[in-house]
Amino acid sequence: RTVTELDAHLIDCRACPRLVAWREEVATVKRPGFRDWEYWARPVPGFGPADAPVLLVGLAPAANGGNRTGRMFTGDPSGDLLFATLHELGVASQPTSIDRGDGLELCGVRITAAVHCAPPDNRPTTAERDRCRTWLARELELLDPGPVAVGVLGGFAWQALLPVLAATGWRLPAPRPTFGHGMEVILTQPLSGRQLRVFGSYHPSRRNISTRIVTPAMLREVLRRVLVAGGV
Ligand code: SF4
Repeated sequence: RTVTELDAHLIDCRACPRLVAWREEVATVKRPGFRDWEYWARPVPGFGPADAPVLLVGLAPAANGGNRTGRMFTGDPSGDLLFATLHELGVASQPTSIDRGDGLELCGVRITAAVHCAPPDNRPTTAERDRCRTWLARELELLDPGPVAVGVLGGFAWQALLPVLAATGWRLPAPRPTFGHGMEVILTQPLSGRQLRVFGSYHPSRRNISTRIVTPAMLREVLRRVLVAGGV
């Protein structure tokens, strides 16, 4: 199976009743300014080449962002900053990400999320996180040859991702590292000798940006390190 085939199954997933109801309700009510949009209102698959050496992992699609446009981080303030930064760093073909048909391409980077459906208040439950973790694990298995550097956007994604990595043969430092902005953890795969460098960054959410918990410079610096680690 390929990632493309996996994504074709993912977009039909209805395993989380609360999130299914929310993603569809948002599509019915629609935010002013988006009344003419036909919302995607389904699970949002990862975006970017399957052979990318760098993987970025976010929290979940925004109700009126990815849940509207059908592409990760597309059409919301988080994506505005993320893609402008990736363009500045030379791995996104354009600085804006408006809808899934806008021609944007990523080079050497794939973006996915811990949870693929938009949650109310941007807060999935732990049960929803654990359920969607299955998709994340399958995606990681199918990425070929697999990333060598991962940028984790926020503590929620960190908590979702690390158990997946541990379950797929990566040895984590003990005690298991906790999330922090700018931190780097090196994982090893004992059998193959491969290494995976995992970096933490505060999520570029609207709230984190407006409160300056994360600034464009802070995000850029971590992403720069992830790209260098990935050889991009
Ligand atoms: Fe399926 Fe994940 Fe969406 Fe839950 S959050 S319905 S597991 S795609």
